[in-house]
Parts: sequence; C-alpha cells; structure tokens
Amino acid sequence: MAEQTIVVLGGGVGGVVAASELKSRLKERARIVLVERNLQQSFPPSYLWVMTGERKPQAITRDISRLERKGIEVVAGELRSIDLSQKTVDVDGREIAYDALIVALGAELAPDAVPGLADAHSYYHLAGAERLRDVLATFESGRVALVVAGLPFKCPAAPYEGAMLLESYFHKRHVRHNVELALYTPEPAPMAVAGPDAGEAIQGMLAHKGIAYHPGRQLTAAEDGRLSFENGSPAPFDLLVAVPPHRAPQVVQDAGLTDDSGWIPVDQHTLETEHESVFAIGDVTRITLPDGKPFPKAGVFAHGEAQVVARNIAARIMGLAKRERYEGTGYCFLETGGGSAGLAQGDFFAHPRQITMRTPSPIWHWGKVAFERYWLWRWY
Ligand SMILES: Cc1cc2nc3c(=O)[nH]c(=O)nc-3n(C[C@H](O)[C@H](O)[C@H](O)COP(=O)(O)OP(=O)(O)OC[C@H]3O[C@@H](n4cnc5c(N)ncnc54)[C@H](O)[C@@H]3O)c2cc1C
Repeated sequence: MAEQTIVVLGGGVGGVVAASELKSRLKERARIVLVERNLQQSFPPSYLWVMTGERKPQAITRDISRLERKGIEVVAGELRSIDLSQKTVDVDGREIAYDALIVALGAELAPDAVPGLADAHSYYHLAGAERLRDVLATFESGRVALVVAGLPFKCPAAPYEGAMLLESYFHKRHVRHNVELALYTPEPAPMAVAGPDAGEAIQGMLAHKGIAYHPGRQLTAAEDGRLSFENGSPAPFDLLVAVPPHRAPQVVQDAGLTDDSGWIPVDQHTLETEHESVFAIGDVTRITLPDGKPFPKAGVFAHGEAQVVARNIAARIMGLAKRERYEGTGYCFLETGGGSAGLAQGDFFAHPRQITMRTPSPIWHWGKVAFERYWLWRWY
C-alpha cells in the first residue's frame, strides 16, 4: 500500500510529464492521481497546422486515460476547489487528500474580457483552429487582422507563426494579392523576451512577406468590423484572428494561490509556492526575470519544470539527498511558411539572457514535425 498521495492538477503538457515522471520513479511507493476535465488532450503547437489543413485533429489528439496503463490514477472531472489548510482538493464533489500537490492548470483564454472579441476566430484552441480552417477555405479577398489582445500570452512565437503561415497559405491558394495581412500586438517588438536580435529578425521576415506589423497596440474592442485601441487609430477588418487575453483558472485564484499579477508566484529553481508541499508549473505560474520581464509561458518550460518537480518529490520520498534545480533553458520553433522554420534557443534565466535565433530553413520545420511525433509517442 502506497504511503503517499501526490495529486497533479491538470493533464496538459506539464501535468502529463509530471505524473509520468513521478510514476516511473516511485512505482508502488506512491499513489499518483492526475485530475483533468478533458481526457482528449491535443498537442497545441500543431493547432497552426490544423488551421492550414495540414493536420487532422485526431492525428494530434490522445486520450489521457491511457496513462492508467502506467499505474497513474486518472480522475476525469472538474476541479472545484483546493483546500490548502486541509490538504484536499474537490473534483466534482469527490474529496481527494494529498501529501504533495502539483498545480499544472495552465492559462484560460478570456475572449469575453474585450467587447466583441468572443466573435473572433482563434487558433489558440483546437475547435477554434478547425473553425478557422473551414472559413479560410472560402476566403478569397479582404483584410485579415491578427490581434494579440493582452499580455502575457502563451507561446511568444505563435502569433508570428500564425501570420506567416496564413501568408503562405494564401499564396498556395493563389489569392495572396487579394488579401491584406496585418498583425497588432501590445508587445514592443516580436518575442521581446528573446532579445532585440530575434525581434529584428522577425520584423524583417514580416516586412519581406508584406505583413503589416503594429506593435505597442492595446486592443479595447473588436466590434462592427473594426479594431479599437487605447493608442493608435482604429483598424478595419474582414476576418479577425485573435490571441485572446489569458488568465489563471478561477479555482487557483479562489484558493489564494495567486498574487497581484493574477498568476501563482513560484521559486524559479524549485517551483515551490508559498504553501508547504504545493508546487506550481507551466502557464499558471509567474516567474519574473532579472530585467523585470515575465518568464514566457511555453510547453517546453512546463515540460522542464515538471521533470524537476517530479524528480525532487520522488527523491524526497525515496530518502535521497540529491535535488535538481530548474535552470530556464529552452527552445522554440518559429514556422515561417513554405515548409521553413526558424529556431530560438537559449538560457532565459541568464542575465543578460543568451538567446540565439537560427535562420529559417526546412531543417527546423522538420525538427518541429519530429518533435510533434516524439511528443505524442513518448507521453501517452
Ligand atoms: C497555438 C499554440 C501554439 C503553441 N506552440 C508552442 C510551441 O511551439 N512550443 C512550446 O513550447 N509551447 C507552445 N505552446 C504553448 C503550450 O501549449 C503551453 O505553454 C503548454 O500547454 C502549457 O502547459 P501547462 O501544463 O501549463 O498547461 P496546459 O497544457 O494548458 O494544461 C492545463 C490543463 O488543465 C486543465 N484544467 C484547467 N482547469 C481545470 C479544472 N478546473 N478542472 C480540471 N482540469 C482543468 C485543462 O483542461 C488543461 O488540460 C503553444 C500554444 C498554442 C495555443
């Protein structure tokens, strides 16, 4: 009989890695419980390819009840509350007690936070990517606006990949000359966290492809075919594609885990929260880098954090002294269209940050394809 129960909240990127790593290290020594409302998990980097029709949703979706084969207890349902003092969570009325808790609940999309935005298209979720694919198939001409509606948002590269993949898509359909493409964002430059070189490189790519770029624009409304901003003149559109504002799930706010930023503050090396035996990983967390910028929200980081937290919890249970530190290294592919991609990689905790941007080439595109296949094979 296992003496300890470790509960992992959220079966997305971070949660699946954490639960698998814990089980493979602890085996019968601990009960690993994974709580998730949506058992059909899909791979978000591929949503862009769903949008362009290059992937079918079922090809990038896996049922996480398969993790039960590894001995993980998968609890399907809505997490209703977290009681930090009693060390319990409530899943649809079922109370589960924990000895250690890993919060991996991600970031929620909040299109309702901006008037009119709920009607926009978005490839930031699977159903949205499918809907946009169908609309794009009959779009012949007009103004396509991509808008990043708020900061922070997950995957700093994804709005730029979206713009460049759409550009390439319209070329393939021989309607590019009839389509105007523009990207609006509150960021000062593309992928500002990756430094000025990456920003300049991406801005150059957008200019080369004829995609108008409007940084420093904070959206206030998307109504009557027009984007309105706090700063700058309004912009008309025929088709609107949005990265909606993000927020932490209400349940973590209600539990008192978040701070003024709206996210869960954690120790950047151990992912510990202020609460004993409670860890948080991935998009739901806040880590502030030495220059005041937020550590980006991305799957590669959720993955690395999950491994460190799981290994340290396992080491403690097994009575081992060794502990790992999370060091904030990672990489991110940047699809640029026409079967090419760039790659940004480096050390995000270093001060100054050390990020290299690799020139777009088919190699990095195939790197992303290989990574997708590996991910879907490795973790399910
Ligand atoms: C279009 C797109 C492209 C991307 N491309 C990349 C990329 O190329 N590289 C990269 O590194 N990252 C990429 N990302 C970002 C990456 O997907 C996220 O950063 C990553 O999924 C975060 O992992 P997570 O575990 O923190 O959260 P998630 O993967 O979002 O998982 C959170 C889980 O918690 C569940 N949940 C939430 N609330 C509850 C509740 N109350 N009860 C039960 N379950 C709940 C959710 O259903 C969800 O499954 C991309 C994202 C998008 C949208």
